Amino acid sequence: MSRTVLVTGASSGIGRAIARQLLQLGHVVIGTSRDGRKFGHAHPAFIPIELDLSRLQTIEPVAKGIQRNFPELDTVIFAAGYGQFGGLEQFSFAQIERLVTVNFTGQAFLTKALLPMLKQKPHSNLIYIGSEAALKGSRNGSIYCASKFALRGFTQALRDECGKSGVRVSLINPGMVDTEFFEALNFAPGRRPEQALQAEDVAEAVSYILQANPHAVIDEINLSPASKVVEFKK
Ligand code: NAP
Repeated sequence: MSRTVLVTGASSGIGRAIARQLLQLGHVVIGTSRDGRKFGHAHPAFIPIELDLSRLQTIEPVAKGIQRNFPELDTVIFAAGYGQFGGLEQFSFAQIERLVTVNFTGQAFLTKALLPMLKQKPHSNLIYIGSEAALKGSRNGSIYCASKFALRGFTQALRDECGKSGVRVSLINPGMVDTEFFEALNFAPGRRPEQALQAEDVAEAVSYILQANPHAVIDEINLSPASKVVEFKK
């Protein structure tokens, strides 16, 4: 069955791997990011759309346009987000607000805007990319962990709220994945193959969720590299 899937953060890393795998499987992919020039998917079934999740007032109009142009949309995968780490006192107030907005509030806005349409479908899916940071707080991660804990609480409550509809809500919590996520950070996973997940591993988890029988909801998937090694950059 061919689906029409909205993937946020489709220009890089996990979202890009998910978009590529869905296109290979014959689905139509609407991919969002802040900069349409970053998309590298020259594919007839790929539709790029610009969306900045930090600009909350733009989310509803973009969502309305997507619903108007793609009424067949039945799956949304929330893979946009970024990391910022450090002691709380090292953050400015604006940085705290932005990290929580992009990693949580923007996703809640987009969900709210699309939910009435998705509830009308016999079967639809909301799949969020959380993190191991949604499961355990850790040093230097106060705001990042808070944004991911918020997302996890949101998905648990939303799953309950959507229980009488055909909307399935799932959360994937990866450990460290070898992506551009670490370009702006002072650490990265170790370089040995067993020390990082690949973005395609997360895309596989998305496929597993989508292929489950319609009566089965995969609530949460936690996946980690076989060996956790953090390397600090000089
Ligand atoms: P990435 O390669 O840096 O990709 C991040 C994506 O998010 C890009 O497509 C980027 O697009 C988009 N994005 C960033 N800020 C945005 C904004 N303000 N508005 C809209 N889109 C924005 O990182 P990734 O590893 O794929 O991370 C994706 C998600 O997985 C994030 O939520 C991250 O927290 C989570 N995660 C990552 C890891 C990891 O180790 N890599 C582990 C666990 C969870 P543009 O820059 O083009 O806008």
